[in-house]
Amino acid sequence: MNLSALQDGARERSLSILGGFHPVPSDDVPRASETILLLGPDEPAFWPAFRNSPEAEDGGADPMDRWSRRVIGGWAETLGARALFPFGGPPFLPFYSWALRSGRVHASPVQFLVHDTAGMMVSFRGALALTERIALPEPPPAPCDTCVERPCVTACPVGALTPAGYDVPACKSYLDTPAGSACLTGGCRVRTACPVSHRFGRLAAQSEYHMRQFKGA
Ligand code: SF4
Ligand code: SF4
Repeated sequence: MNLSALQDGARERSLSILGGFHPVPSDDVPRASETILLLGPDEPAFWPAFRNSPEAEDGGADPMDRWSRRVIGGWAETLGARALFPFGGPPFLPFYSWALRSGRVHASPVQFLVHDTAGMMVSFRGALALTERIALPEPPPAPCDTCVERPCVTACPVGALTPAGYDVPACKSYLDTPAGSACLTGGCRVRTACPVSHRFGRLAAQSEYHMRQFKGA
C-alpha cells in the first residue's frame, strides 16, 4: 500500500488525503499507529456526493458526521485501520495539532488553519490510523510565507476575526444582519479572501451549509 493508492481510494469516496505524519508517543494517537492520514472533502466532488447520500436525505441530526462515520469507518475496516473523527466529543481528538504535525497545514495570521492547497477552506472529515508505515512526501512551503498582502488579516467587515483573536459573538451578531448575508451564503470573508482558498473549488452551497450550522449553534 502506498500513498498514491490510498489517495485514489480517498477520491473514490469524494475525500482527499490532506496530509499525514508518522506519530511519536506525544501525538495522542491509537497504539500501534505508524501513519496517520488526515481526510478532508475532495472539492468540488464532495458536496454533490454528500447531498445525494442517505444521511443528507433522512432528516436526522448531524448528517455530515454520520456520512463521515459510514464512509471513513467502512474504508478503515477494509484497510485494517482505525477511523478517527474530529467530532463526537468532548473529549475531542487533537486534529488541530495533528494538522500542524503534517507540515501541510499552518496557523494563519488569524490563527485559523491554512492548508497548502485547500487554503483557509481546509476542514477534516476524519483520519485513518494505519499500522503500516506509509512513505510521505516532504511538505511544500507554507503559503503564508510568500503572501505579501495577507488579505485574511483585514477581510472581516466587522473586525471579528483578526490577529488579535476571534470575537465569536460579534461574528454571529453580524450574521444576523442583512449585510451579514454575504458571509452566510458565500462563506466567511476571511476564509474566502485567502488566495489559496480561491483555487480550491469549494462550492458556495457547501460554505453556506457550514455557516448556517455555525450560526445556529
Ligand atoms: S491570505 Fe495569505 S497570509 Fe492569510 S492565510 Fe491565506 S496565504 Fe496565509
Ligand atoms: S463570518 Fe463574516 S463576520 Fe464572521 S468572522 Fe467571517 S467575515 Fe467576519
